This record gives sequence, C-alpha cells and structure tokens, in this order.
Amino acid sequence: MTITAETIRRSKPGSMLISCDDLPPRGHYFGGEFRPSTSGSTLVVIDPCTETVLAEVPDGTVEDVDAAVAAATAAQPAWGHLTPKDRSAVLLRIADRIETNSDLLVRLESANTGKPLTVARDDIDSTIDTFRFFAGAARAITSQAAADYTDGHLSVILREPLGVIGVVTPWNYPLLMAAWKIGPILAAGNSLVLKPSEQTPLTTLKFAELVSDLLPPGVLNVVTGVGPVVGSRLSQHPDLAMIALTGSVNSGRAVASGAADSLKRVHLELGGKAPVVVFEDADLTAVTEGVRYAGFWNSGQECGAGCRILVHETVAAELTERLTEAVASLVVGEPGAGDDVEIGPMVSKAHFDRVAGFLQRAEAAGIRATVGGRVLDGPGYFIAPTVFSPVADGAEVAHHEIFGPVITIETFADEDEAIERANAVPYGLAASVWTNDARRSHAVAARLDAGTVWVNSHLVLATEAPWGGFKGSGYGRDLSIYALDDYSRTKHVMHNHQR
Ligand code: NAD
Repeated sequence: MTITAETIRRSKPGSMLISCDDLPPRGHYFGGEFRPSTSGSTLVVIDPCTETVLAEVPDGTVEDVDAAVAAATAAQPAWGHLTPKDRSAVLLRIADRIETNSDLLVRLESANTGKPLTVARDDIDSTIDTFRFFAGAARAITSQAAADYTDGHLSVILREPLGVIGVVTPWNYPLLMAAWKIGPILAAGNSLVLKPSEQTPLTTLKFAELVSDLLPPGVLNVVTGVGPVVGSRLSQHPDLAMIALTGSVNSGRAVASGAADSLKRVHLELGGKAPVVVFEDADLTAVTEGVRYAGFWNSGQECGAGCRILVHETVAAELTERLTEAVASLVVGEPGAGDDVEIGPMVSKAHFDRVAGFLQRAEAAGIRATVGGRVLDGPGYFIAPTVFSPVADGAEVAHHEIFGPVITIETFADEDEAIERANAVPYGLAASVWTNDARRSHAVAARLDAGTVWVNSHLVLATEAPWGGFKGSGYGRDLSIYALDDYSRTKHVMHNHQR
C-alpha cells in the first residue's frame, strides 16, 4: 500500500503571525544594549513557509564577539557574588516576563521556524518551566558536608561559578535550547555570550530585549552571525571558561577542536538517531500513538525523535500498516493555518535539500515508502511525512540522522539482535523499548547505549531529569541539577585547626 495524497494547508491570505512591531531591535545585544555589527553587513532571516525575508540581523565578527566577551567578563564577578536567593529571584522574574509575553514569543517562534503553533506553545511553556526550575535549583545546590577527613584538618568544599561561558544554539528549538543553557549558567553565577542559529535568531534577541531591565548589563549577551566566524571565535576565545554547543556532530567536532588550545571546558549536546525497539508482546496501539507523536514532533527536527523503528518480525506487518495509516493522517501546513496543523516545513532550503537527498537516495536504493517519500510543492520547504518499510540493516536512512518527518522500520528476530542493532549507530542520545514483560523492560533499558531510555513511551521530558548523550551525541548534561554541576566547579578549602 502506498499513500501519497498529502497537501499543505495554507494560512488565509493576508493573515500574518507577526507584525514589524513584534521583531526585536536590529543589533547584537551586549553590555545591556543593542548595538550594530562592526561589519555593517547583515544576514537575512527567511520564513520557511513562504521563502520570503522576515528580518535581518547583524553578521557578527570576531571584534563583536570580543566586545561581548569583555562586557560579560566585567559583569560576571558581581553576578557570581550575589546570593543564590538573589539570583533565584531574578530567574523567577525572567520566567514571569516570558509568561506575560508568551503569546508574542509563540508567534515569533512559529513565524521564524515554520513550526506548528502547538509546538511553539510547548517550547515557550517549557522555557518558562526551565527558568522556574533553575530558580529553585540555584538555592538547593549542596556539596559534601564540611568535615575532618584528615586529622586536625577541616575540609570545606565550595561550588563556584566557572566565569564567562560561550553558548552556541541550534535552530530546531531556538528559545528553548537557549533557555536550557541560560537557566543553569545564570543560576550557577556565570555570565554568558550566546550565538543563536543564523536561521532562527529572532526569539533569542526578543528574549534579550524583554529581560534587559531584569539582569545587570553584561550578564547576558547575544551575538548573531555564522558558526565559522562567531561560533568559532567563541570556542577559541582565551577568556571563556567553557563553550557549550547544541548542534550537529560536525559543529561539535569544530567546537571541541577550537577549544583545545585554551583548554576550556566543552559541553556538547549533539545529534541522535533514536531506536524504538518494539517486542512482540508490546501494545501496538500505544506504539503507534507514541511513534506518531515522537517520530514527527517538530516535523521530525528533533534530536531525540523516535525515528528508527526496530520491530520483532512477527508483528512487523501489523505495525507497518498501523503506522502507515497514522502517519498519513498527520496534518501538514503553515502555522497560521490552524491549531490542528501538526507538521510544518523544514527550517531552511539547505536543510530541505538535505532531507530531500535522503528520500531520493532511498528511492534509488529501492526502499519502499508506504506513505510519503517525496517533497511537497512549494512555496515552502515541506516534506511529506514518510514511512520507509521494510528497511534492511545498514541502510543509509536507518543509520544517519535525517532530522525530518521520516521514520524507518526494520525487523529483528530476538532480544540480543534487537539490542545489538539498536546500538549500532554512532549516536547515543535517546532510545525506547516497548514491551509488557517486566524483566525485559529492565534488561533491555540497561543494555541500550543512550543517555535517555523510555519504557513504553518516547520523547517525554522532565525538567528535573538530565538530558544528554553518549558516544557521538556528545557529553555534558542539560536540565536537572546535573546541569548545575556542569556549569560550576568545586573547590576544596582545607583549614588546619591543630594546636
Ligand atoms: P548546526 O550544527 O548546523 O548548528 C548549530 C549551531 O552551531 C549554529 O548556531 C551554528 O551557527 C553553529 N556552528 C556551525 N558551525 C560552527 C563552528 N564551526 N563553530 C562553532 N559553531 C558552529 O546544527 P543545527 O542544524 O542548527 O541543529 C540541528 C542539530 O542539532 C541536529 O544534529 C540535532 O540533533 C542537534 N540537536 C541536539 C540537541 C540535543 O539536546 N542533543 C537538541 C537540539 C538539536
């Protein structure tokens, strides 16, 4: 069975998600003010639904980064010396400010990324929750109790800020990924210079504008521009204590090698190719609902997307049929076309071409799409939600991160094979196991090589729980109290109190 009747639901003519007044000021934000780039040149920000220009932002330079780092360096000591209670109060005010402006931020995020309004709403709600969590966590940081571990010597273990941190963020959840860094970095007493993705800088700049009266000048700084210039300077800058990147594996490699000379700390949240391991005793209705959500949330542009289905051979035919029907029912469209739109465009022409390339090569390799498998007619960078099945072990579409609305279905014969195949990718960000067998749910979860493993679920996150990968998915943890560990350092002070 092949279904190919996807159409794009368009917004009503003349209906716009944002007006010019909603855009942030045009400039970098550092030292508490918006400032032009020393280059004088700009980058255009494109609406991926219409392929028209939404805004322009400065094309940042090395000099811009250096000026922002100087502002952050000047501001950090005073911020770091505030009590946790005082920093917490600021983070709570930031959360309140975002909440008050959440409608604007939702529309701006959807306009820039093309993501459905429901997804953007979830992003902004999670952003608010992230700041509230870190406001609480800032006051709950504890370290080992002070004690005499050596005769006559009292050990006191302090937790200190690192200093100034460079942050580079991706385009898939622009403000949320920024918040995952800004929350713990500020809570721990650091200042930061953040470079948003050149494709999606608008909500990060708007955020800076909205909170500018809440933070001392220089504590939060935003420099826009391209990765090889602004991101690269951040990773190499001698005055930064750490560089934290959320992005692709290649950018992770560039940042880690750029950071090597200065020996700064590196925190990397990179790509994924999450396996969804379905055993013969699983509830296939739950699997179908779970994959329809987790494989296609944010149009599949999700690092933890449940995109690689590994199913026991005895239930593969039934699951393929159910998933095909479920995926065919996804509503594709522009965010302004209604709250029921579930799939938007790819974020950019470059990414659209990349995903289209995977589809073309899969077709050339003779892999069957039971639904979708093609690009949709423009304007806009839309791809039809796609199920490839059956997919042989080792196929490109099943091993590389596609980052679009595409899932693959492979089969396995037994538990050992399932685990071996699930782990046989360079990534280790997330995975799920679907079974009603209690022994298996524990045993398989323990053997899956991923930073997050769900049992009978996929892509449900909690701000209290750590998020981050193994292997090619990077190192370091976002969210949770563990992020505060990453963005701070311990110091042992030993007092000799012998007479
Ligand atoms: P990307 O790597 O192309 O870009 C990410 C950021 O890195 C951008 O700001 C970009 O300008 C910058 N960059 C690019 N080259 C650089 C360089 N040489 N030095 C410094 N910075 C550089 O990634 P993307 O396409 O924006 O985002 C998608 C990727 O992000 C996917 O691989 C996805 O899996 C990953 N991601 C991971 C997580 C996670 O939590 N692990 C979350 C979201 C996205």
